[in-house]
Amino acid sequence: MIKFNIPPYTGREDKYIMEAVRSHKICGDGAFTQKCNRWIEEKTGTAKALLTTSCTHATEMAALLADIHPGDEVIMPSYTFVSTADAFVLRGATVVFVDIRPDTMNIDENLIEDAVTAKTRAIVPVHYAGVSCEMDTIMDIARRYHLCVIEDAAQGVMSSYKGQALGAIGDFGCYSFHETKNYSMGEGGAILIRDPAAVERAEIIREKGTNRSKFYRGEISKYTWVDLGSSYLPSELNAAYLWAQLELAQEIYEDRMHSWELYREQLSALAASGAIELPVIPAGCVHNAHMFYIKAANIEERTELIAWLKEAGISAVFHYLPLHTAPAGERFGRFHGEDVYTTRESNRLLRLPLYYGLTEDDVTAVCERIKQFYAGRHTK
Ligand SMILES: *Cc1c(COP(=O)(O)O)cnc(C)c1O
Repeated sequence: MIKFNIPPYTGREDKYIMEAVRSHKICGDGAFTQKCNRWIEEKTGTAKALLTTSCTHATEMAALLADIHPGDEVIMPSYTFVSTADAFVLRGATVVFVDIRPDTMNIDENLIEDAVTAKTRAIVPVHYAGVSCEMDTIMDIARRYHLCVIEDAAQGVMSSYKGQALGAIGDFGCYSFHETKNYSMGEGGAILIRDPAAVERAEIIREKGTNRSKFYRGEISKYTWVDLGSSYLPSELNAAYLWAQLELAQEIYEDRMHSWELYREQLSALAASGAIELPVIPAGCVHNAHMFYIKAANIEERTELIAWLKEAGISAVFHYLPLHTAPAGERFGRFHGEDVYTTRESNRLLRLPLYYGLTEDDVTAVCERIKQFYAGRHTK
């Protein structure tokens, strides 16, 4: 039995959670939250990082900070998680989907400019599998049209593009620490803020529209309601869990990378034979081994392969039915241009088991089973 994912656990979590409990500070913004914020700031070079209750909520904060209003348009790929779109739809914006590149499954940077209209306010690149979008091109379009760039870097913690950490390149970056991500706090995330001038409003929005953060720092004598906002700060118990992971971030990274490289090595001959395709990491992109996927010939072959793996107790999954084909996607968005790759490539993609602590034997067993599947097909 090889599971698709096991949430990361280092062994230090229990101790840190009990420290939080004994400190009698279990609501948000205590010592563990501060440590996690600072870790992200130091790792990424962003002006400010704030832990949030999820990446979805970090994206909602970014939509508020970017002043997205009804009638505005926001450009993003259709091949992404619903949260990428939801955060902007909640503000009344129309989502404009653009096709992806077949090599990285990221938004095709060369199709973005054609989708820009007088109503466009923001571009939301999603760094799929922790592999960066072409940020130079995207930032250049944003500069020329005065658009805000909000990076969905949910999968991109510890990844970089030309030496810059993902999430710290655009105006805002959003991280996820969900249990399915490389580093976890159960449910949680973070918003990265590049412009120091936006930090005060971010703190207010995160604290229900109050200036309580300033009050806690002793900068004002009482706090009050000053802007719109919501409750976007996680509890210290969750931050304590995350801190155990961030402390060992490099070890977790190396462990995942080892499994990722092993998959690539063991499946390279099969890919060379043309039976499957493997992930592509463009020059300048350093990824974080968030995901190892293969591409089958088509959806029928993928369905058979999933069943074949399942028979051997191996759980492999696919995800992201393109948003523009979903009922809410049809209602709140539109696809600009032609869907050449989004549907076709998403139908072929299959994610293999990958988590902190996955053994070499398990990776080998998965690869052997895949090889058997294709050996059977080709001798027929
Ligand atoms: C996981 C994920 C999200 C949502 O993260 P949550 O922390 O669960 O809200 C958003 N976008 C992408 C691309 C993701 O992979």
